Amino acid sequence: MPQDLILLINQRAHERQKAGFDVINGSIGMLSLDDGSLPIAPEIRSVLSRHVTDHDLSYSSVAGPKEYADALRHWFLASDFDEAAKQGLFSVIATPGGTGALTLAFFASKTPKSLLLFPSLDWPNYEAIAAGFGLEYASYDLYEKDRFALGGLEKQITEALHSHDKVVVVINDPCENPTGYSLSASEWQGLALMLNKKELRGRVELIVDVAYIDYAKEETRAAMKEAVLSLPKGTLTSFCFSFSKTFSFYGLRIGALAVYGQDSSLVQRRVDLATSEARALWSVPNHMAMNAVIELITTEKTFSSLKRNIEANRRLVAKRAALFLSEAKAVGLPYYLYKDGFFVTLQVQDAFGLAEKLMKKDIFLAPVKATGLRVALCALNEKKLTGLARVIKETMEEAV
Ligand code: PLP
Repeated sequence: MPQDLILLINQRAHERQKAGFDVINGSIGMLSLDDGSLPIAPEIRSVLSRHVTDHDLSYSSVAGPKEYADALRHWFLASDFDEAAKQGLFSVIATPGGTGALTLAFFASKTPKSLLLFPSLDWPNYEAIAAGFGLEYASYDLYEKDRFALGGLEKQITEALHSHDKVVVVINDPCENPTGYSLSASEWQGLALMLNKKELRGRVELIVDVAYIDYAKEETRAAMKEAVLSLPKGTLTSFCFSFSKTFSFYGLRIGALAVYGQDSSLVQRRVDLATSEARALWSVPNHMAMNAVIELITTEKTFSSLKRNIEANRRLVAKRAALFLSEAKAVGLPYYLYKDGFFVTLQVQDAFGLAEKLMKKDIFLAPVKATGLRVALCALNEKKLTGLARVIKETMEEAV
Protein backbone atom coordinates (compact mmCIF):
# COMPACT_ATOMS: atom_id res chain seq x y z
CA MET A 1 0.00 0.00 0.00
CA PRO A 2 1.48 3.41 -0.91
CA GLN A 3 1.93 5.30 2.36
CA ASP A 4 0.26 8.43 1.06
CA LEU A 5 -2.80 6.53 -0.23
CA ILE A 6 -5.18 8.27 2.18
CA LEU A 7 -3.99 11.70 1.06
CA LEU A 8 -4.26 10.63 -2.58
CA ILE A 9 -7.86 9.48 -2.09
CA ASN A 10 -8.66 12.75 -0.36
CA GLN A 11 -7.15 14.66 -3.28
CA ARG A 12 -9.23 12.64 -5.74
CA ALA A 13 -12.37 13.52 -3.77
CA HIS A 14 -11.47 17.21 -3.90
CA GLU A 15 -10.90 17.08 -7.65
CA ARG A 16 -14.34 15.50 -8.19
CA GLN A 17 -15.92 18.07 -5.91
CA LYS A 18 -14.23 20.90 -7.80
CA ALA A 19 -15.58 19.45 -11.03
CA GLY A 20 -19.09 19.86 -9.59
CA PHE A 21 -19.87 16.35 -8.34
CA ASP A 22 -21.58 15.71 -5.02
CA VAL A 23 -19.04 13.60 -3.16
CA ILE A 24 -18.99 11.80 0.17
CA ASN A 25 -15.44 12.30 1.39
CA GLY A 26 -14.84 10.20 4.48
CA SER A 27 -11.19 9.59 3.70
CA ILE A 28 -9.26 11.92 5.95
CA GLY A 29 -9.04 12.60 9.68
CA MET A 30 -10.10 16.24 9.86
CA LEU A 31 -13.14 17.19 11.86
CA SER A 32 -15.52 19.47 10.00
CA LEU A 33 -18.74 21.06 11.14
CA ASP A 34 -21.94 20.25 9.27
CA ASP A 35 -21.25 23.11 6.82
CA GLY A 36 -17.78 21.71 6.04
CA SER A 37 -15.78 24.38 7.92
CA LEU A 38 -13.22 23.71 10.66
CA PRO A 39 -14.54 24.15 14.22
CA ILE A 40 -12.38 27.12 15.17
CA ALA A 41 -14.00 29.93 17.18
CA PRO A 42 -13.44 33.56 16.02
CA GLU A 43 -11.45 34.45 19.17
CA ILE A 44 -9.04 31.60 18.44
CA ARG A 45 -8.57 32.74 14.84
CA SER A 46 -7.99 36.23 16.12
CA VAL A 47 -5.12 35.10 18.40
CA LEU A 48 -3.56 33.15 15.52
CA SER A 49 -3.73 36.17 13.23
CA ARG A 50 -1.71 38.29 15.66
CA HIS A 51 1.27 35.95 15.77
CA VAL A 52 3.35 37.61 13.09
CA THR A 53 5.85 39.55 15.23
CA ASP A 54 9.64 39.17 15.07
CA HIS A 55 9.38 36.87 18.08
CA ASP A 56 7.12 34.58 16.05
CA LEU A 57 9.17 34.67 12.88
CA SER A 58 12.57 34.15 14.48
CA TYR A 59 14.07 30.70 15.17
CA SER A 60 13.12 29.03 18.43
CA SER A 61 15.40 26.61 20.28
CA VAL A 62 15.36 23.01 18.99
CA ALA A 63 13.22 21.75 21.88
CA GLY A 64 11.00 24.87 22.01
CA PRO A 65 10.43 27.25 24.94
CA LYS A 66 9.72 26.06 28.48
CA GLU A 67 6.42 27.99 28.41
CA TYR A 68 5.31 25.78 25.52
CA ALA A 69 6.28 22.59 27.38
CA ASP A 70 4.38 23.75 30.48
CA ALA A 71 1.30 24.86 28.55
CA LEU A 72 1.19 21.59 26.63
CA ARG A 73 1.57 19.48 29.78
CA HIS A 74 -1.12 21.48 31.52
CA TRP A 75 -3.53 21.15 28.58
CA PHE A 76 -3.15 17.44 27.98
CA LEU A 77 -2.30 16.05 31.41
CA ALA A 78 -3.62 18.66 33.88
CA SER A 79 -1.33 18.69 36.94
CA ASP A 80 -0.62 14.94 37.07
CA PHE A 81 2.94 15.19 35.74
CA ASP A 82 3.87 18.55 37.33
CA GLU A 83 5.92 16.96 40.09
CA ALA A 84 7.66 14.69 37.58
CA ALA A 85 8.51 17.73 35.42
CA LYS A 86 10.01 19.51 38.45
CA GLN A 87 12.22 16.50 39.16
CA GLY A 88 13.43 16.09 35.57
CA LEU A 89 11.34 12.95 35.07
CA PHE A 90 9.11 14.44 32.36
CA SER A 91 10.68 16.36 29.53
CA VAL A 92 9.22 17.86 26.34
CA ILE A 93 10.54 18.51 22.83
CA ALA A 94 8.26 20.47 20.52
CA THR A 95 7.76 18.80 17.14
CA PRO A 96 6.05 19.31 13.79
CA GLY A 97 2.72 17.71 14.79
CA GLY A 98 2.23 14.25 16.21
CA THR A 99 4.09 12.87 13.18
CA GLY A 100 7.24 14.65 14.31
CA ALA A 101 6.80 13.28 17.82
CA LEU A 102 6.37 9.72 16.55
CA THR A 103 9.38 10.13 14.30
CA LEU A 104 11.60 11.14 17.23
CA ALA A 105 10.09 8.52 19.54
CA PHE A 106 10.68 5.67 17.08
CA PHE A 107 14.19 6.84 16.22
CA ALA A 108 15.33 7.49 19.78
CA SER A 109 14.02 4.18 21.13
CA LYS A 110 16.29 2.24 18.78
CA THR A 111 18.98 -0.11 20.12
CA PRO A 112 21.04 -2.58 18.04
CA LYS A 113 18.41 -5.28 18.57
CA SER A 114 15.15 -3.55 19.41
CA LEU A 115 11.73 -4.38 18.01
CA LEU A 116 8.84 -1.97 17.55
CA LEU A 117 5.38 -3.48 18.01
CA PHE A 118 2.45 -1.79 16.30
CA PRO A 119 -1.26 -2.60 16.68
CA SER A 120 -2.54 -4.96 13.97
CA LEU A 121 -4.86 -2.19 12.80
CA ASP A 122 -2.91 1.03 12.92
CA TRP A 123 -2.22 4.37 11.31
CA PRO A 124 -0.26 3.24 8.22
CA ASN A 125 2.28 6.01 8.71
CA TYR A 126 3.81 4.05 11.64
CA GLU A 127 5.23 1.53 9.19
CA ALA A 128 6.43 4.31 6.89
CA ILE A 129 8.31 6.11 9.68
CA ALA A 130 9.88 2.88 10.96
CA ALA A 131 10.87 1.82 7.45
CA GLY A 132 12.45 5.23 6.84
CA PHE A 133 14.89 4.60 9.70
CA GLY A 134 15.34 0.92 8.82
CA LEU A 135 13.79 -0.10 12.17
CA GLU A 136 12.54 -3.62 12.75
CA TYR A 137 8.82 -3.79 13.47
CA ALA A 138 5.98 -6.29 13.80
CA SER A 139 2.28 -6.18 14.69
CA TYR A 140 0.41 -7.32 17.78
CA ASP A 141 -3.25 -8.27 17.72
CA LEU A 142 -5.32 -5.41 19.00
CA TYR A 143 -8.32 -7.44 20.15
CA GLU A 144 -9.15 -10.77 21.68
CA LYS A 145 -12.91 -11.20 21.24
CA ASP A 146 -14.31 -7.93 22.59
CA ARG A 147 -11.32 -6.67 24.57
CA PHE A 148 -7.73 -5.52 24.28
CA ALA A 149 -5.57 -8.59 23.61
CA LEU A 150 -3.27 -8.17 26.61
CA GLY A 151 -2.52 -11.90 26.96
CA GLY A 152 -1.44 -12.15 23.34
CA LEU A 153 0.70 -9.03 23.66
CA GLU A 154 2.52 -10.38 26.71
CA LYS A 155 3.21 -13.66 24.95
CA GLN A 156 4.54 -11.87 21.91
CA ILE A 157 6.79 -9.58 23.99
CA THR A 158 8.18 -12.52 25.96
CA GLU A 159 8.96 -14.43 22.77
CA ALA A 160 10.49 -11.37 21.10
CA LEU A 161 12.79 -10.83 24.08
CA HIS A 162 14.52 -14.16 23.34
CA SER A 163 16.01 -12.59 20.22
CA HIS A 164 15.80 -8.84 20.94
CA ASP A 165 17.31 -6.67 23.65
CA LYS A 166 14.24 -4.45 23.89
CA VAL A 167 10.61 -4.33 22.77
CA VAL A 168 8.95 -0.97 22.17
CA VAL A 169 5.15 -1.21 22.29
CA VAL A 170 3.26 1.48 20.41
CA ILE A 171 -0.23 2.15 21.71
CA ASN A 172 -2.52 4.59 19.98
CA ASP A 173 -5.00 5.33 22.70
CA PRO A 174 -7.55 6.67 23.40
CA CYS A 175 -9.69 6.69 20.23
CA GLU A 176 -7.41 4.49 18.17
CA ASN A 177 -6.95 5.30 14.51
CA PRO A 178 -8.45 3.53 12.60
CA THR A 179 -10.82 1.58 14.88
CA GLY A 180 -11.98 4.06 17.51
CA TYR A 181 -11.05 1.61 20.28
CA SER A 182 -10.08 3.01 23.71
CA LEU A 183 -8.62 0.84 26.45
CA SER A 184 -10.80 0.61 29.55
CA ALA A 185 -9.45 1.54 32.99
CA SER A 186 -8.96 -2.14 33.84
CA GLU A 187 -7.14 -2.76 30.54
CA TRP A 188 -4.73 0.09 31.33
CA GLN A 189 -4.21 -1.36 34.81
CA GLY A 190 -3.56 -4.79 33.29
CA LEU A 191 -1.00 -3.32 30.92
CA ALA A 192 0.81 -1.52 33.75
CA LEU A 193 0.85 -4.71 35.85
CA MET A 194 2.35 -6.60 32.94
CA LEU A 195 5.09 -4.00 32.42
CA ASN A 196 5.85 -4.17 36.15
CA LYS A 197 6.62 -7.91 35.98
CA LYS A 198 10.23 -8.63 36.96
CA GLU A 199 11.13 -10.31 33.68
CA LEU A 200 9.88 -7.36 31.59
CA ARG A 201 11.15 -4.46 33.71
CA GLY A 202 13.54 -2.25 31.83
CA ARG A 203 13.25 -4.38 28.68
CA VAL A 204 9.99 -2.95 27.37
CA GLU A 205 9.15 0.64 26.54
CA LEU A 206 5.88 2.34 25.77
CA ILE A 207 5.13 4.86 23.06
CA VAL A 208 1.66 6.27 23.64
CA ASP A 209 0.30 8.10 20.63
CA VAL A 210 -2.33 10.37 22.16
CA ALA A 211 -3.19 12.32 19.00
CA TYR A 212 -6.93 11.90 19.76
CA ILE A 213 -6.85 12.22 23.55
CA ASP A 214 -9.30 15.13 23.65
CA TYR A 215 -12.02 13.02 22.05
CA ALA A 216 -11.99 10.46 24.87
CA LYS A 217 -14.02 10.24 28.05
CA GLU A 218 -12.35 11.66 31.15
CA GLU A 219 -12.14 8.27 32.91
CA THR A 220 -10.15 6.77 30.01
CA ARG A 221 -7.69 9.61 30.16
CA ALA A 222 -7.31 9.29 33.93
CA ALA A 223 -6.68 5.54 33.69
CA MET A 224 -3.98 6.07 31.10
CA LYS A 225 -2.16 8.63 33.24
CA GLU A 226 -2.38 6.47 36.35
CA ALA A 227 -1.02 3.45 34.51
CA VAL A 228 1.96 5.36 33.09
CA LEU A 229 2.76 6.88 36.49
CA SER A 230 2.88 3.40 38.01
CA LEU A 231 5.51 2.00 35.62
CA PRO A 232 8.80 0.81 37.10
CA LYS A 233 12.00 2.82 37.23
CA GLY A 234 13.71 1.42 34.15
CA THR A 235 10.66 1.79 31.87
CA LEU A 236 10.42 4.87 29.68
CA THR A 237 7.18 6.18 28.23
CA SER A 238 7.13 8.47 25.22
CA PHE A 239 3.92 10.46 24.80
CA CYS A 240 3.31 11.74 21.29
CA PHE A 241 1.11 14.83 21.44
CA SER A 242 -0.52 16.75 18.63
CA PHE A 243 -2.50 19.96 18.43
CA SER A 244 -3.76 18.95 14.96
CA LYS A 245 -6.88 17.11 16.10
CA THR A 246 -7.27 18.87 19.44
CA PHE A 247 -7.46 22.46 18.18
CA SER A 248 -8.07 21.68 14.47
CA PHE A 249 -4.63 23.14 13.74
CA TYR A 250 -3.78 20.49 11.14
CA GLY A 251 -1.73 22.72 8.87
CA LEU A 252 0.13 24.52 11.66
CA ARG A 253 2.21 21.39 12.29
CA ILE A 254 2.67 21.60 16.03
CA GLY A 255 2.88 18.91 18.70
CA ALA A 256 5.45 17.44 21.05
CA LEU A 257 7.28 14.38 22.23
CA ALA A 258 7.27 14.07 26.02
CA VAL A 259 9.49 11.49 27.67
CA TYR A 260 8.57 10.24 31.12
CA GLY A 261 10.37 7.81 33.40
CA GLN A 262 11.29 7.46 37.04
CA ASP A 263 15.00 7.67 36.30
CA SER A 264 15.98 11.25 35.43
CA SER A 265 19.28 10.28 33.79
CA LEU A 266 17.46 7.87 31.42
CA VAL A 267 14.94 10.60 30.57
CA GLN A 268 17.70 13.13 29.96
CA ARG A 269 19.68 10.79 27.70
CA ARG A 270 16.60 9.99 25.65
CA VAL A 271 15.66 13.65 25.30
CA ASP A 272 19.21 14.58 24.26
CA LEU A 273 19.17 11.92 21.58
CA ALA A 274 15.76 13.01 20.31
CA THR A 275 16.80 16.67 20.34
CA SER A 276 19.92 16.03 18.22
CA GLU A 277 17.77 14.08 15.76
CA ALA A 278 15.20 16.88 15.64
CA ARG A 279 18.00 19.34 14.83
CA ALA A 280 19.14 17.07 12.01
CA LEU A 281 15.68 16.41 10.58
CA TRP A 282 13.87 19.77 10.73
CA SER A 283 16.08 22.01 12.87
CA VAL A 284 13.52 23.90 14.95
CA PRO A 285 9.76 23.68 15.49
CA ASN A 286 7.19 26.26 14.34
CA HIS A 287 7.82 29.25 16.61
CA MET A 288 4.71 31.12 15.52
CA ALA A 289 2.49 28.14 16.30
CA MET A 290 4.11 27.55 19.71
CA ASN A 291 3.70 31.20 20.71
CA ALA A 292 0.05 31.13 19.67
CA VAL A 293 -0.56 27.89 21.60
CA ILE A 294 1.11 29.34 24.71
CA GLU A 295 -1.14 32.39 24.55
CA LEU A 296 -4.28 30.34 23.90
CA ILE A 297 -3.68 27.96 26.80
CA THR A 298 -2.44 30.46 29.36
CA THR A 299 -5.22 33.02 28.74
CA GLU A 300 -8.33 32.15 30.70
CA LYS A 301 -10.80 33.36 28.07
CA THR A 302 -9.34 31.37 25.17
CA PHE A 303 -8.61 28.37 27.42
CA SER A 304 -12.31 28.11 28.31
CA SER A 305 -13.37 28.77 24.74
CA LEU A 306 -11.15 25.88 23.56
CA LYS A 307 -12.49 23.57 26.26
CA ARG A 308 -16.07 24.39 25.21
CA ASN A 309 -15.18 23.86 21.56
CA ILE A 310 -13.68 20.46 22.25
CA GLU A 311 -16.66 19.29 24.25
CA ALA A 312 -18.95 20.33 21.38
CA ASN A 313 -16.67 18.55 18.88
CA ARG A 314 -16.68 15.40 20.97
CA ARG A 315 -20.47 15.40 21.10
CA LEU A 316 -20.71 16.04 17.37
CA VAL A 317 -18.52 13.04 16.54
CA ALA A 318 -20.38 10.83 19.03
CA LYS A 319 -23.70 11.75 17.40
CA ARG A 320 -22.38 10.93 13.95
CA ALA A 321 -20.97 7.63 15.23
CA ALA A 322 -24.30 6.66 16.79
CA LEU A 323 -26.12 7.33 13.53
CA PHE A 324 -23.67 5.47 11.28
CA LEU A 325 -23.26 2.49 13.60
CA SER A 326 -26.99 2.01 14.08
CA GLU A 327 -27.43 1.95 10.29
CA ALA A 328 -24.44 -0.38 9.90
CA LYS A 329 -26.02 -2.78 12.41
CA ALA A 330 -29.39 -2.55 10.68
CA VAL A 331 -27.95 -3.55 7.28
CA GLY A 332 -25.54 -6.13 8.73
CA LEU A 333 -22.30 -4.29 7.98
CA PRO A 334 -19.65 -5.58 10.41
CA TYR A 335 -17.18 -3.20 12.02
CA TYR A 336 -14.27 -3.45 14.44
CA LEU A 337 -14.89 -2.56 18.09
CA TYR A 338 -15.58 1.16 18.36
CA LYS A 339 -15.64 3.27 21.54
CA ASP A 340 -14.97 6.92 20.63
CA GLY A 341 -13.28 9.17 18.16
CA PHE A 342 -12.92 10.21 14.55
CA PHE A 343 -13.05 6.84 12.76
CA VAL A 344 -14.80 3.54 12.53
CA THR A 345 -13.34 0.68 10.50
CA LEU A 346 -15.49 -1.78 8.62
CA GLN A 347 -14.57 -5.46 8.51
CA VAL A 348 -14.44 -6.32 4.83
CA GLN A 349 -12.85 -8.91 2.52
CA ASP A 350 -11.07 -6.65 0.04
CA ALA A 351 -10.89 -3.09 1.30
CA PHE A 352 -8.78 -1.84 -1.60
CA GLY A 353 -11.16 -3.25 -4.24
CA LEU A 354 -14.20 -2.00 -2.36
CA ALA A 355 -12.70 1.49 -1.99
CA GLU A 356 -12.17 1.59 -5.77
CA LYS A 357 -15.79 0.54 -6.43
CA LEU A 358 -17.08 3.13 -3.99
CA MET A 359 -15.00 5.85 -5.61
CA LYS A 360 -16.89 5.18 -8.83
CA LYS A 361 -20.00 6.19 -6.85
CA ASP A 362 -18.18 9.30 -5.53
CA ILE A 363 -17.77 7.80 -2.07
CA PHE A 364 -14.21 8.22 -0.79
CA LEU A 365 -13.14 6.02 2.15
CA ALA A 366 -9.71 4.84 3.28
CA PRO A 367 -8.61 1.21 2.99
CA VAL A 368 -6.17 0.81 5.90
CA LYS A 369 -5.47 -2.87 5.26
CA ALA A 370 -6.99 -5.63 3.16
CA THR A 371 -9.61 -6.34 5.81
CA GLY A 372 -10.28 -2.79 7.00
CA LEU A 373 -12.08 0.09 5.31
CA ARG A 374 -12.01 3.22 7.44
CA VAL A 375 -14.85 5.71 7.55
CA ALA A 376 -13.87 9.18 8.80
CA LEU A 377 -16.99 10.08 10.78
CA CYS A 378 -15.29 13.35 11.69
CA ALA A 379 -15.54 14.55 8.09
CA LEU A 380 -19.14 13.59 7.27
CA ASN A 381 -22.27 15.36 8.43
CA GLU A 382 -25.48 13.48 9.23
CA LYS A 383 -26.89 14.12 5.77
CA LYS A 384 -23.89 12.43 4.13
CA LEU A 385 -23.86 9.63 6.70
CA THR A 386 -27.53 8.77 6.33
CA GLY A 387 -27.84 5.79 4.02
CA LEU A 388 -24.07 5.41 3.61
CA ALA A 389 -23.93 2.03 5.41
CA ARG A 390 -26.57 0.65 3.04
CA VAL A 391 -24.69 1.81 -0.08
CA ILE A 392 -21.45 0.28 1.23
CA LYS A 393 -23.22 -2.99 1.96
CA GLU A 394 -24.78 -3.08 -1.52
CA THR A 395 -21.43 -2.29 -3.13
CA MET A 396 -19.80 -5.08 -1.13
CA GLU A 397 -22.38 -7.51 -2.41
CA GLU A 398 -21.82 -6.35 -6.00
CA ALA A 399 -18.12 -7.01 -5.43
CA VAL A 400 -18.64 -10.67 -4.53
N1 PLP B 1 -1.21 9.63 15.20
C1 PLP B 1 -2.31 9.24 14.59
C2 PLP B 1 -2.93 7.97 15.04
C3 PLP B 1 -2.86 9.99 13.55
O1 PLP B 1 -3.99 9.58 12.99
C4 PLP B 1 -2.24 11.18 13.16
C5 PLP B 1 -2.76 11.97 12.05
O2 PLP B 1 -3.61 11.59 11.30
C6 PLP B 1 -1.07 11.56 13.84
C7 PLP B 1 -0.58 10.77 14.85
C8 PLP B 1 -0.27 12.76 13.49
O3 PLP B 1 -0.95 13.90 13.32
P1 PLP B 1 -0.24 15.28 13.00
O4 PLP B 1 1.15 15.01 12.52
O5 PLP B 1 -1.09 15.93 11.99
O6 PLP B 1 -0.22 16.01 14.29
